[in-house]
Amino acid sequence: MADQYTMQDPTKMYADRVPDEQYLPGPGTDKEMAENVPADHGEDSYRGSGRLQDRKALVTGGDSGIGAAVAIAFAREGADVAIVYLPEEDEDAQRILGLVKDAGRKAVAIPGDLKDAAFARQAVQTAVDELGGLDILVNNAGKQQHVEDIVDISDEEFDETFKTNAYATFWLTKAAVPHLSPGSTIINSTSIQAYAPSPQLVHYAATKATVNNLAKGLAAQLAPKGIRVNAVAPGPIWTPLQPAGGQAPDALPSVGEQTYLGRWGQPAELAPAYVFLASNESSYVVGETLHVDGGMPTP
Ligand code: NAD
Ligand code: MG
Repeated sequence: MADQYTMQDPTKMYADRVPDEQYLPGPGTDKEMAENVPADHGEDSYRGSGRLQDRKALVTGGDSGIGAAVAIAFAREGADVAIVYLPEEDEDAQRILGLVKDAGRKAVAIPGDLKDAAFARQAVQTAVDELGGLDILVNNAGKQQHVEDIVDISDEEFDETFKTNAYATFWLTKAAVPHLSPGSTIINSTSIQAYAPSPQLVHYAATKATVNNLAKGLAAQLAPKGIRVNAVAPGPIWTPLQPAGGQAPDALPSVGEQTYLGRWGQPAELAPAYVFLASNESSYVVGETLHVDGGMPTP
């Protein structure tokens, strides 16, 4: 497979990876999703060149989807990587940790539930202890469930979505900052939904606006300490979160059509944005939201 530097037609890349209608219970796993249409995390294509040599990174939700592609890319760029994931995703996580090790880097598994503040704090401490410090925090774990009508969004669903996406970002960042030295970076996974909320995702979209705004406010607060904070805003990306209730099952085949490229994006297409924001190449990029969405106009 061609690496990320080979010239290719972006309308044709992955254009045949159109999912069927489907539903995955729980958080969904990459293993189950791959039985229908596999996602590309750059396993056979991402080529590193020492851009994160000897950095120490914590990536939440690094077992699958965007976080998995980021974990693979970071490792191939020379970073040691710890990933947080839910215990039921251990099989996915072990596969990604294996790829981190194959890149010759340290791989640390931190299973647990980020809706729990104590676990979130402990996850940062475990990463610091196991990696011998921390330079990069990627707040990427997320929950997305489509609910068509606000009267059907349960208080529990609203609470769990904010806990997973917004509160955990706060807890993790608060715990991480005391360990970060100048040159460190924090990257939040926001979404096109922060700017253009879909009617069936109002509570999820509100969390993504929150983490986007947190990135901008913290960027201002932490820049004087030499810590840069930025965000990546993906468009529709083929990951387990989508068939696991992120979209209605019958919407899955057509979700990518709304983009200028007319197709779903793949996790592998997100990883270079995170590598750029994590590395010193982006030394003058602060409080930015990098949109990786196949072309969906945003402010
Ligand atoms: P994904 O399902 O592969 O990753 C999400 C991960 O979050 C899961 O693998 C899981 O490990 C983790 N997670 C969820 N709840 C958790 C909890 N309570 N405790 C610990 N970990 C938990 O899906 P993805 O699409 O790669 O999602 C990654 C991020 O990208 C999310 O923040 C999502 O909102 C964002 N995003 C995704 C898309 C998309 O189209 N897929 C678009 C915009 C933004
Ligand atoms: Mg997962």
